[in-house]
Amino acid sequence: MSKQRTKRVIGNWKMHGRLAANVALLNEVVQGAGPVPAGTAIGVCVPFPYLAQVQQQLDGSRVAWGAQDVSAHEQGAYTGEVAAAMVAEFGARYAIVGHSERRAYHGERSEVVAQKALRALSAGLTPVVCVGETLDEREAGATERVVGAQLDAVLDAMTAEQVASIVVAYEPVWAIGTGKSATAGQAQQVHAFLRARLAAKGAPDVSLLYGGSVKPDNAVELFAQPDIDGGLIGGAALKAEDFLAICRAAN
Ligand code: PEP
Repeated sequence: MSKQRTKRVIGNWKMHGRLAANVALLNEVVQGAGPVPAGTAIGVCVPFPYLAQVQQQLDGSRVAWGAQDVSAHEQGAYTGEVAAAMVAEFGARYAIVGHSERRAYHGERSEVVAQKALRALSAGLTPVVCVGETLDEREAGATERVVGAQLDAVLDAMTAEQVASIVVAYEPVWAIGTGKSATAGQAQQVHAFLRARLAAKGAPDVSLLYGGSVKPDNAVELFAQPDIDGGLIGGAALKAEDFLAICRAAN
């Protein structure tokens, strides 16, 4: 099994931040990124209003940035929505799509997630496509059916070449923000399943991140799994020290 894929750690700030606090956090991350192995890609996905700020502060550093969502539409009368092309104008690299909080609180279905991923790609962004099962689904033995269907909706809408340009994040819903991470074995099992699905589509080397209560003390074991290429990090991305320790664990 290839372990040559790029390692990647991306922070998801969710709806956190203030201008002054962001300056301090970003400075700490940039200044502390030196010891993170050069082969590890680092990114932070911030609330839309902070894109200009992160562009100004991170431009020229090794830390990339992105948004946490984009519209499924290109442009038009969609009050409150933000187009992928607008995000790209701020030098962004990533757009998270299909996060479980969007699926749960905004009714986003997988077909919409696929549209958003395509919009992101068209704008030159790398979509970070999130998939994950709830606790009920896991306990019912439906994990592979659920994450397989979520991924297939995206794969079916794309060519193999497009799929090769996405990042996929497996984020079990029961592990997000709960402090209860999947074990390395549980995560690897689902990642191997997703990897096979991606390989069947002709894109075996897609970056596959694990997300869900990743902390400095569990990151090494999670990231050592053959099909885990890094992490999507929520709560721990808000503390530079923790985020950097997780970044260092990825190689
Ligand atoms: C997330 O929001 O994508 C996430 C993984 O959150 P946390 O790390 O806090 O569980």
